[in-house]
Amino acid sequence: MSKNRCGWCVGDLLYENYHDDEWGVPVYDDATLFEFLILETFQAGLSWITVLKKRENFRKAFDNFDYKKIAEYDTSKVEDLLRDTGIIRNKLKVKATITNAQVFMKIQDDFGSFSKYIWDFVDGKPIKNEVVYYKEAPANTPLSDTISKDLKKRGFKFVGSTVVYAYMQATGMVNDHEVTCFRYRQV
Ligand SMILES: [Zn+2]
Repeated sequence: MSKNRCGWCVGDLLYENYHDDEWGVPVYDDATLFEFLILETFQAGLSWITVLKKRENFRKAFDNFDYKKIAEYDTSKVEDLLRDTGIIRNKLKVKATITNAQVFMKIQDDFGSFSKYIWDFVDGKPIKNEVVYYKEAPANTPLSDTISKDLKKRGFKFVGSTVVYAYMQATGMVNDHEVTCFRYRQV
């Protein structure tokens, strides 16, 4: 018998693997939290599968998501990135990535780690929802509004409430697996 998965990923192997291995698994290390933050900001207005398919290209283009290097990118690097057909060539998002790397490091300085900062919003523990059908899961919540406002106040770009909620789902701050999904009780 095949495994029962959240309906949104079924039928695409890349999507299924991402769902099985990563989506909703709590992430506590800053490097991975930064990677998801960048991928989610590029996703704004597009589909997640579009970003996922380009993830390895992003990894190559953005120095393996090394925020210390990204924070130092200059205008010639931005021009290189805007010529890279393997990524999403959106000038505002590319520039925002540099700003976001800088703000990310400021938060590390202020809180000890970005992980500490972001997980404090849920008291360090994932919120476990009871989603029956994935389309019922919210696109954003009062909590993602709060986090979005705080991120923006600190200088982050492309962190609207919907982007933040998708980020919370991806990094396991919230468990939005369908209750019948084999991962619901595992993550
Ligand atoms: Zn699932």
